[in-house]
Amino acid sequence: MIKLNEQYEQFGISKRVYAYGEEILASLQERFRQIDEVAEYNQLKVIRAMQECNVSEACLLGTTGYGYNDLGRDTLEKVYAAFFHTEDALVRPQITCGTHALALALMSNLRPGDELLSPVGKPYDTLEEVIGIRPSKGSLKEYGISYRQVDLLPDGGFDYKGIRAAIGEHTRLVTIQRSKGYQTRPTLSVARIGELIRFIKDVRPDIICMVDNCYGEFVETIEPTDVGADMVVGSLIKNPGGGLAPIGGYIAGTKDCVENAAYRLTSPGLGKEVGASLGILSSFYEGLFLAPTVTANALKGAIFAANIYEKIGFSVVPNGSESRHDIIQAVTFGSPDGVIAFCQGIQAAASVDSFVTPEPWDMPGYDSQVIMAAGAFVSGSSIELSADGPIAPPYAVYFQGGLTFPHAKLGILKTLQNLIDRGIITSDFRKA
Ligand SMILES: *Cc1c(COP(=O)(O)O)cnc(C)c1O
Repeated sequence: MIKLNEQYEQFGISKRVYAYGEEILASLQERFRQIDEVAEYNQLKVIRAMQECNVSEACLLGTTGYGYNDLGRDTLEKVYAAFFHTEDALVRPQITCGTHALALALMSNLRPGDELLSPVGKPYDTLEEVIGIRPSKGSLKEYGISYRQVDLLPDGGFDYKGIRAAIGEHTRLVTIQRSKGYQTRPTLSVARIGELIRFIKDVRPDIICMVDNCYGEFVETIEPTDVGADMVVGSLIKNPGGGLAPIGGYIAGTKDCVENAAYRLTSPGLGKEVGASLGILSSFYEGLFLAPTVTANALKGAIFAANIYEKIGFSVVPNGSESRHDIIQAVTFGSPDGVIAFCQGIQAAASVDSFVTPEPWDMPGYDSQVIMAAGAFVSGSSIELSADGPIAPPYAVYFQGGLTFPHAKLGILKTLQNLIDRGIITSDFRKA
C-alpha cells in the first residue's frame, strides 16, 4: 500500500484535508473518464493533422535571419490549419502573447471607418486598451475604428434583438470571446458560438467572425472554426503550446484574414515569407502533440477545485457538475484574504519559485490590483498550475492549469489547507 497521505503531509497538508480531497475525487471518476475520451479524440486529430502535412525530422529544425523557406514554420502553419479546418494559419514566436495575437488579428482586418462589435459583453481586460475602451496609445480608436458592445442577457443568453440593432453598415468584424476571462459569466460552448455566428451571418454574411479562443482549445472535440468562425486566435503559452512552447501565438482562419495578419505582423509585401523560427519549433510541435492530454489534466484540476469549494459553500463558475468549455475555474471568496490565501497556496505547490510569496500589484493592462500565483517553467504560462485574481469585488479567484493532474491536485489541497490555517474555512470544511 502506497502511503500517499505521508507525501502530502510533507507539504503541510493534514490527513483530514487529504481525506476530504479523496472523498471528492471518488465522486468524479465518471467525469474524468469522459474527459479522457475527449483527450483521446483530440490526440488522434492532432496526429492526423501532423501526418497529413508530412511533418518530418527536418521540420523540427529552425532558420535564422530572414527565415526564407523555413520548412518547419511553414509546415507547422499547415498543421494548425489542418487541425482547425481552416484555409491557412499564422503560428509564430514573433507573436508575443495572446493579447498581441488578438490585437494583430483586429488591427490587420479592420480599416479606418470600420466598426468592431462584441456581442458577448465586455472583452478580456487587456483588450480594452487594444480597442480603446480605455484610452491607450495606438488603440483601434486612435485609428478611427469604432467599437460597439452588446451585453449578454442576465441569464447568460445572447441579446439577439440588441445584436441585430447594433449591426450597422460599418460593422466589419465581430469578436466573440469563448472563455469568461476575469468575469463570472458562463463560458460559451462551441455549439453556442455556432448559433451566434449563424445569426450574424444571416444578418450580414460579409461580417468577419473572430473567436478569441484562449483557454478553449481541445476542451471539446470541435473548435469554433468548425461552426463558421472566420478566424480563431490564441496564445501558445496556454492550451495549444502544451506547456512546452516558450512563447507564441496563433491565428487560424480564412486565407484573406491570415494574409492580412501576416502583412501586419511583418510588413506589406513580405507577409508570411519572413520570420525566422530560430530553434524553438520542436517545442511548438511537441507541445501541440501533448496539448490534448495536458488540457485534459488542467480540466480535471478545474473540476476538482470546483467540487471542493462548492461543497464548502463558495460560489463557483462553472459549478461542480456542469459541462466545461474552457479550463478556467472561478471561485468567489468575497474577501481579499480569501483570494490571497488561495493564490499563495497555489504558489507553494510549484516546482519553480515555491519559496516566494505572491502579493497584489498594479499589473500593466489591468485596471485594479491583481495577485498572481505562477511558479512556472515558462514565465507567466497559464496552462501550468496558476491562479490569479483582481483585488476587487466580488473577490473571485481564477484558477487554471496543471500540466499533470497530480500537480493540480497538490495545488488545490494546498489552497484548502491555507484557507483553513488562516481561519477562512473551519476545520470541519465550512465557511467561517
Ligand atoms: C489570456 C487571455 C487573453 C490574453 O492573452 P495573454 O497571453 O495574457 O496576453 C485574451 N483573451 C482571453 C480570453 C484570455 O484568456
